Amino acid sequence: MKARIDELTVLLEKYNEEYYIKNASSVSDAEYDNLMRELMELEEAYPEYAHPNSPTKKVNGGVLDVFTKITHKRAMLSLGNAYNYEDLMAFDQRIKNEVGISYDYMVELKIDGLAMSVEYQEGEFHHAVTRGDGEVGEDVSHNIRTIRTLPLKLSEKREIEIRGEVYVPKSEFERINSVRRAKGEEEFANPRNLAAGTVRQLDSAIAYERRLDAFWYYVPNAIELGFTKHSESLDYLDSLGLKTNHERRLFHTMEEVWEYILEITAKRPELPYEIDGMVIKVDDLRLQSRLGATAKTPKWAIAYKFPAEEVVTKVKNIFLTVGRTGKVTPNCEMETVRIAGTKVGFAQLHNEDYIAMKDIRIGDYVVVRKAGDIIPEVVSALPERRDGTQEKYIFPKVCPICGGRLERSEGESDYFCINLECEARMVESLIHYASRDALNIDGLGDKKVEFLYKRGILSRIEDIYTLHTHYDEMIHFDGYGEKSVKKLLEAIENSKKNELDRLLYGFGIRHIGEKAARILAEKYIELDALMQASVEELTNIRDIGKVMADSITNFFALDSTKELIEYLREKEVNFTQHVQEKVESMFTNKSVVLTGTLPTLSRKEASEILMKLGANVVSSVSKKTDYVLAGSEAGSKLDKAQSLGITILSEEDLLKEAEEYEK
Ligand code: NAD
Repeated sequence: MKARIDELTVLLEKYNEEYYIKNASSVSDAEYDNLMRELMELEEAYPEYAHPNSPTKKVNGGVLDVFTKITHKRAMLSLGNAYNYEDLMAFDQRIKNEVGISYDYMVELKIDGLAMSVEYQEGEFHHAVTRGDGEVGEDVSHNIRTIRTLPLKLSEKREIEIRGEVYVPKSEFERINSVRRAKGEEEFANPRNLAAGTVRQLDSAIAYERRLDAFWYYVPNAIELGFTKHSESLDYLDSLGLKTNHERRLFHTMEEVWEYILEITAKRPELPYEIDGMVIKVDDLRLQSRLGATAKTPKWAIAYKFPAEEVVTKVKNIFLTVGRTGKVTPNCEMETVRIAGTKVGFAQLHNEDYIAMKDIRIGDYVVVRKAGDIIPEVVSALPERRDGTQEKYIFPKVCPICGGRLERSEGESDYFCINLECEARMVESLIHYASRDALNIDGLGDKKVEFLYKRGILSRIEDIYTLHTHYDEMIHFDGYGEKSVKKLLEAIENSKKNELDRLLYGFGIRHIGEKAARILAEKYIELDALMQASVEELTNIRDIGKVMADSITNFFALDSTKELIEYLREKEVNFTQHVQEKVESMFTNKSVVLTGTLPTLSRKEASEILMKLGANVVSSVSKKTDYVLAGSEAGSKLDKAQSLGITILSEEDLLKEAEEYEK
């Protein structure tokens, strides 16, 4: 542990120097934050190994000798970090325990630039200083004076220090980079780097040309000026002609704060400047003083950092998984990182060509991306960080599960294990058949299927219907017992009544997903009728293309399929689709998008009701969308719908319409 603490301390010091002195980071902020968090956790567990001057305990920053040094009258601190709702609740609880009275939070945008302190004497601009190491900063007055929104003379003759963030607007960042591109010069990595690099130029003409801007968010001597609330001091800055950010709000509870964070998260892409989080501050200035600060951060404020969607990590290994169709997918095992708020240790590599195109090697540092619910994927490798230990990945030609041959047809990008008896294929097919959206057999999940397969009593779909003959054996299996075996057998019996569309989907026919299975079941009503359909007939159906039609006819032509179907018929599995009469509702033939969390219905339930009412449920909002059904925490889809003027409906509207048609 000591070795890791030493290693992290040295590494973070190096990154600090790159970031604060050279304005050229070799790692992303998310990677830096992950390492910082790791060091904090280790130092908490092993305080005896922590360095007295550890980067976790001090304000990190640097002071260049070319600038005059100015000592801050009051230390300029950093902020503690929160990464999720739980972190914010813990912060809230700590304060509640300490103060024991009710108070408000001011919530502000965390502007992604660099911190600045400006002092006015008798209402006149006197000097501007960077944060530096928190105690001593650099005099950059000549550059800060070029900020057009910063008055050099205030409307009152005041002695006041103001602190805020100097930044470069997104449009200015684009403009400057496009000029550099045209000249063949290196572009700036992000607006923060550009701002930091500009503020520390010796020639103020450069700052003037690059149009720096600033928001002011703190008055360190507010109490001396007679204020009792932070919010009042910000209003006062407005009255003096100093630019503050108006997306600030006061809240009484952390739940309300969280709602606001979600609202801003959705708005973030449209803001004309970069933000990397939100800052939550106790509004009462006396409480702020009571809560105090550590050497690094105030205890009355915290920065919520937006989850990074892209982070850097290291590939430990590349391995293959085999799906129910035999499709082989390469995946990589990585050093665990936090992306978009969750811990991630594995990512998809798609196929052989993808690995070759991106030249991803075992041992490489890679950029991994995860947005929302999407499975994480490797975006790119970082060849500049190779040290010679990396190994090229050679795609195996045999199945890692059954040892059978892997085949890749011409024009296809995927390899397939062609062995129909491959254990991975069989287990995955069974899991799929029993899954919630297919036959929905409760009690026959991944682990149970794998276990029963290994025991040799479940290897094909047919075996599901003979499990009752293994009753005596099964009740003695670990974790089973009479009750759960009876429940499982009951679930199997009940699953026979499912509609035809679920059975079709459960067969796992290549290219036939839930939607296509439903279309086919509703068109043919009876399985036997569908089995007779020709490719021509099938391709005449809307949404069924040639590839799907071929796949369906090939599947039904197989002897094994015919045998399976006869077997299921014998077991009285339902082969019919009960078709609802088409209703004429406000949703008939309308395109509807669902977004956010609905108060009572799950997404699936809501979309089933919508489909019964004749709607076409689609996933993305466009001009062609008729309605958006939105719940809480609806993000960018709702914003897009609003900007396109699409009618927004609630769950209540849907239930009302459904009730009408049940009458
Ligand atoms: P920080 O950026 O996490 O938070 C503190 C800063 O937030 C303040 O100093 C202030 O400048 C800013 N801020 C913006 N809006 C604010 C508002 N409304 N109210 C109050 N403050 C506001 O902390 P830091 O110490 O400045 O920087 C540390 C961060 O910098 C790291 O978490 C990392 O993301 C980044 N960093 C990256 C590297 C790298 O190598 N990539 C190295 C060092 C630091």
